[in-house]
Amino acid sequence: MDTQVGIVGAGPAGLLLAHLLGREGIDCVVLEARSREYVEHRVRAGVLEQGTVDVLTRTGVADRLQREGMVHRGIELRFGGEGHRVALSDLAGGRAITVYGQQEVVKDLIAARLDAGGPLEFEAPATEIDAERGVVRYGDGGSDELRCAIVAGCDGFHGVARAAVPADALTVYEREYPFAWLGILARAAPSSEELIYTHHERGFALHSMRSADVTRNYRQVAPGEDIEAWPDERIWEELQTRMALADGSFALNEGEVFEKGIAPMRSFVAEPMRHGRLVLAGDAAHIVPATGAKGLNLAVADVRVLARALSAYFAHGDESGLDTYSERCLRRVWRVQHFSWWMTAMLHRLTGDAFEARLQRSQLDYVVRSRAAATTLAENYVGLELEDV
Ligand SMILES: Cc1cc2nc3c(=O)[nH]c(=O)nc-3n(C[C@H](O)[C@H](O)[C@H](O)COP(=O)(O)OP(=O)(O)OC[C@H]3O[C@@H](n4cnc5c(N)ncnc54)[C@H](O)[C@@H]3O)c2cc1C
Repeated sequence: MDTQVGIVGAGPAGLLLAHLLGREGIDCVVLEARSREYVEHRVRAGVLEQGTVDVLTRTGVADRLQREGMVHRGIELRFGGEGHRVALSDLAGGRAITVYGQQEVVKDLIAARLDAGGPLEFEAPATEIDAERGVVRYGDGGSDELRCAIVAGCDGFHGVARAAVPADALTVYEREYPFAWLGILARAAPSSEELIYTHHERGFALHSMRSADVTRNYRQVAPGEDIEAWPDERIWEELQTRMALADGSFALNEGEVFEKGIAPMRSFVAEPMRHGRLVLAGDAAHIVPATGAKGLNLAVADVRVLARALSAYFAHGDESGLDTYSERCLRRVWRVQHFSWWMTAMLHRLTGDAFEARLQRSQLDYVVRSRAAATTLAENYVGLELEDV
């Protein structure tokens, strides 16, 4: 054996798994296709569930998160030109979300891994995985070989790990949505203290933030939209239209756009999440549409379950955790899939059909008027406890 656990991919799933295993004295090697510079600057998620913050804090990688993260206790749902606050913490037993960029979590975990002296190889793409034997070929043309007791496929949606499971051993559930998100980062102070999710006849819009002087805004676009067709002025104009309040009291703060991109919206689950010596975690096994802010958090939940299973396996040869890993994770995955689909269906312009639009308005009205409905949103949004799903 070259290592006990070979981890393919240094995104949030792979890095947190390496961190948790390192604390248990379990030997692992992390292989990452890209450079350190690239992964530390890849802009993606930014909303951390309470459970994600708790695990990072408990395991000593949250000093900067505690200093710089912005704790939010509510969100706004905006529709029909009016805003309605959903008091997340009041409804969900005091739990909250924290706004802190995914790339910052990645930076903190890389620093912890390198400080601990653990092997983490950048620009070392895995080319092939043998799930039965636990062998990973990597590097230029697959010239190097890593032999492992367990391989953790944490290489995201486009990685090689999922493809290492024979097609007849894997069931895939998938839905593509007829829209995408155009996201921008801008040098502008947030226009609101909390995130604003907007349902508008022209389509969904979201106002979010990364710091006291950086805003993150998203708007629904067609899936094949060309980013070049959206100069900054046009993006701001459309965002202002969608997010306006009927009484004219709201305007988004505008500023220099320094990052923009279009992300597709997809739901995807591959079952089971284990085959032979290979386990899948995070986006390698499932994707959720971003409306529920769950992708990163789901990756974290997977590796928390996996780290416990591997700890029992290497300490006592107890395989029960590994045997039930897939089933335990999938319960949460499907809960989160449902929540993400529900938020997406409630807030986006779907087909433009008037009947559908009336149903959406009725659902939104109910969520902001009924404590039971608002609680359902709140407890899913801040994240259910690992034990509850
Ligand atoms: C544009 C975009 C915006 C998003 N916005 C949000 C959001 O607002 N909220 C939210 O909750 N989620 C969001 N997500 C989802 C969230 O970012 C992911 O769910 C999260 O990154 C999953 O982490 P992961 O570690 O499983 O996968 P990843 O972060 O994808 O990490 C996988 C790693 O594996 C590496 N890799 C790939 N192939 C190989 C290989 N062959 N060998 C070695 N390494 C390999 C990759 O370079 C990468 O570093 C967004 C995703 C995208 C793409």
